Amino acid sequence: MNVPDDPANTAAAPTVTAEGEAFPSAPRRLQFVEMAAPEAGKSVSIAPGLRWARIPLPLDLNHINVWLLETDDGCVVIDTGLAASIGKDAWESIEREYFSQRPLRAVVVTHIHPDHIGLAAWLQERIGVPVVMSRRTYEQANGMWGGEAKSHFSAAEEFFVSHGVTDAMQIRSMFRPERFARMTSGMPRVEQFIADEQTVRWGEGEWTALETNGHAEGHLCFSNPAQRLLISGDQVLPTISSNISFMVGNGDPNPLGSYLSSLQRLRALPEDTLVLPAHGVPFRGLRQRIDDLTGHHLEQLDKVAALCVEPKVAMDLLPFMFRRQLKDMHLFLAIGEALAHLEYLVHAGRVRREVRAGRVTYITLE
Ligand SMILES: [Zn+2]
Repeated sequence: MNVPDDPANTAAAPTVTAEGEAFPSAPRRLQFVEMAAPEAGKSVSIAPGLRWARIPLPLDLNHINVWLLETDDGCVVIDTGLAASIGKDAWESIEREYFSQRPLRAVVVTHIHPDHIGLAAWLQERIGVPVVMSRRTYEQANGMWGGEAKSHFSAAEEFFVSHGVTDAMQIRSMFRPERFARMTSGMPRVEQFIADEQTVRWGEGEWTALETNGHAEGHLCFSNPAQRLLISGDQVLPTISSNISFMVGNGDPNPLGSYLSSLQRLRALPEDTLVLPAHGVPFRGLRQRIDDLTGHHLEQLDKVAALCVEPKVAMDLLPFMFRRQLKDMHLFLAIGEALAHLEYLVHAGRVRREVRAGRVTYITLE
C-alpha cells in the first residue's frame, strides 16, 4: 500500500504507515505542486538551485523525497533512504545523471530514522564526502551501534508488559540492535554538526537549521526565507500525522509537547512557504497543515482524558485512537503514540500516572 500522491485519493490510504497515521487535510486546504513526482533515480528542478529526487523504500511507505541543493562547486543532498538495493540503484542513477555534472560535496541527515540516515555511510564511503547532522542525532546513532541499543532491547519487554501489551515479545523485536544495523549502511564518520538556528549557505541562498523535536530528538528542518522554502523532514508531512512516540530509552519526557511547540515555531514562517516534506508531494499551506495536525492531537488528547476517567493502561486506548487492528511495527508505533498523549496529559496536570503491580495506569484528575 502506498501513501497516496493524489491528495484527493485517500480512500486507499493505510491507517498507519511506517512514519505515522494517515491523516490528510480536507480538500483544498493545501495547494500541492502540480508537477509529477520524479521517478526513482531521476531528479527534477523544483526551485532555483534545488532539485527533487525520490529514493524508493521497501516498506508500506514506498519512497523518501531527497533534496539536491546546488552549491558553487557541486551540490549537497538532504537525506538518503534505507540501506536496500533499490535505494542504492536509485543513487547510482542520480550519480550518473547529476553528480557527474555537479559533484556531491556533503550529505545532510535530518534525523535518526533509518529511511533518512540509512545510506549516509554508503554514500560517504562511495563518494568520499562529509556527513553532517545535529549533535543529538549523532549521539542516538552512536548509541544504536553501541551498548545503549542492547540495554533498550533488554528493557523493552518489561516496558511493553507494564503498558498492557500481552504479546510483548512480538514488538520487543523492534529494539533488536541488529534491526537498525540491517536497515542502515553503518555509522558514518561525522566531524561537523549543525546546531539549531545555524545558518548555512547552500546554492541560491542561506538556509537556517531549525531543531524541531517530538517525532525524533534532534530532528532538523531547513528554512530558506528568501526563497520561501522549508525542507520539513518528517516534522510536517502532507498526508500523514507523523508518529510521536514515548518509548523505551526516550530522552524527551514529553515528546508530544515538544512536537506541538516545534510546530508553532514553524508556523511563524512566511505563509506562502513551499513545504518540501520527506514523504508525499510538496505543497503550500504550511499554517493550515500545522493547524490541522495540532487540532488532531488536541482531539486525541481530549479523547484520552475522557477515557481515563476509568483507570487505563496505554494498550486499552488503542481501539479508540486508531481505526484498525494493529500488529508488529504498527502496534509498536501506536503504543508509543498513546503513551506520548498520556505523558503529555501527565505534564499538563490532567492525568495521574500510577504504577500498580508492575502495570502503569493512567487516571484523569477531576
Ligand atoms: Zn522519521
